[in-house]
Formats: sequence, C-alpha cells, structure tokens
Amino acid sequence: MMPSRPSPADPEVDSCILCGSPADEALVVRGFKIAQCGSCGHQFLPSPISQDHVAQTYSDAYFFGGGAGYTNYLEQQSLLEKRGSQYAKIVEKHLGRKGKVFDVGAAAGFLMQGWANQDWAATGIEPNLSMVRHGQERGLDLRHGVFEDSSAWTKESYECVSMVQVISHLPSPLDALRLAYKMLKPNGILLVETWDRTSWIASAMKGGWHEYSPPSVLQWFHRKSLTLAASSVGFEFVESQRALRWLNIGHAKSLLKHMSATSKLAKLASMVATVFPSQMNVLYPGDDLFWALYRKPNA
Ligand SMILES: [Zn+2]
Repeated sequence: MMPSRPSPADPEVDSCILCGSPADEALVVRGFKIAQCGSCGHQFLPSPISQDHVAQTYSDAYFFGGGAGYTNYLEQQSLLEKRGSQYAKIVEKHLGRKGKVFDVGAAAGFLMQGWANQDWAATGIEPNLSMVRHGQERGLDLRHGVFEDSSAWTKESYECVSMVQVISHLPSPLDALRLAYKMLKPNGILLVETWDRTSWIASAMKGGWHEYSPPSVLQWFHRKSLTLAASSVGFEFVESQRALRWLNIGHAKSLLKHMSATSKLAKLASMVATVFPSQMNVLYPGDDLFWALYRKPNA
C-alpha cells in the first residue's frame, strides 16, 4: 500500500510517507514539526505542502540570497562539473558503457556539463527559470518544470537518472522514484546523492544540523530508508559510499552563518572559517553526505 502525500485536508499525518508505519514527532526546527517513522526511521515534514512549494522555495533567492541556499550558485560551477564527471565514471563502471543521463533538479546544468565532458548525452530538468536559461545559453538540453508533475520527459528512456541533493527536497519521493524507474532502460542506474541523518555529525548537531532546514528540505533519509524507498518501487541496490565533496569556503561561510542562529557548534565553525579565503576549496570533512546506486532489473 502506497501512502499518499500530505494534503491540506489531512494536516495531521501520522504515518510514514515511505513505509506507511506509524510516525511520531521527533523534533521541532524553527517552528516546523518533523516526524519520524517508528519502523524505518525515516524523518519527514508532515505539514501540508502548498501547491506552489517548488516555485516559492526555488526562487532566485534560493540560488543567490544566501541563508539555507546559496550566496551565488554560479560560483559552484567548476566543483559541480568535476562532481558530474566523477559520477559519470562511477556509473559507467557499473553499467559497462556510456549513454544518456537525465539529471533531476539540474539547476544551471553544471553536473550535466560534467557528464557531457565524459561523453554522456545529458538532459536535465529544473524548476527555476533563471537557472534553466543559464544552462540553455551554454547549449545544454535543460528543460523547465517540476520533475514529478509531467510525463513529457518520460517518452525517452535513459541509461541513468541522477538525483544529486534533490530527493530530500521532494514532497513525494516515492512518486519521483517511480518516475525514474519508468524512465530507465532495463539495467539502467539510478544515482542518488543525499544526506544521512544518522551520521555522527547529524547526531552531534541535533536540530542545528544544516540539513534541518524546512521547508526547503522535506525528507531526512539514512542509508537504509533510502534503500527501502528505492526497493519499494522495484530497484535493486548496487553500491553506496560516503560522498567525497569539495566545498567552496565562501559557500560554507554563508551556510555556517545561517546555522549559527540555532547551533553553537556552527557558530564556532563560522568563526574558524573566517580565517580562510572565500575562493578557497576544501574537502568537506563530514560523514553525512553519501551516494547510492540502484539498478532497474532486467525484466
Ligand atoms: Zn517508515
């Protein structure tokens, strides 16, 4: 049985959006109640999600306004291109060939460019029009829209569907996983990069953890709950690892400043960060980011 997404008529959701088991309030962050499943441990925002949630959350302010988003997303270009290339190589290793990749929540298409640099044909979807235009001006096949809302992009099939730091922002992750499954060729690979709420850094920071930023973030996975969700729509688990990620100090400073309001640890880290130049890149030391690959079985 698949639970439906929260709706305004049903504000008190008390069952897990992944497995349907009973869920209880786990913590409150900036007035938002976060629920936790008693069975799979998935955490989620049970509050009703407004219809224009995506447009509101991913306005230009998210990419350029700082806070829980970015001071200037475009500065992430070279780091994201490298990351896209790394993922292209990892997926190719499992797939045995290159092919077509569909990037969900592609922003300005920097990850797509990284895939393209490895000779993949990259297509992406992004709800923010400024980001879409930025990517299209650079010649990318970037489409404007909300992934789960349309079947326009399901007419073609792909070797890989990529969701890098996207699934935790989706009101209904199971709908997105089902759609990804449908779009993949047999043996195709789903790549998910997301945050682990059971990592030591998340446990140490509690409500002050950077990923506790509702309503931009709506889901808090851990490795098992992500695999549970993927399996429930038919995927087979392939591999998962901690994501090694280069971090721009300028972006880190902006995030830490935002988090300092709720976390003493972040305040301390924010003071430490001020001694580093903003244009510097460092390897992100946390254990809270991971990637996982899932395969659509050959029917
Ligand atoms: Zn559950």
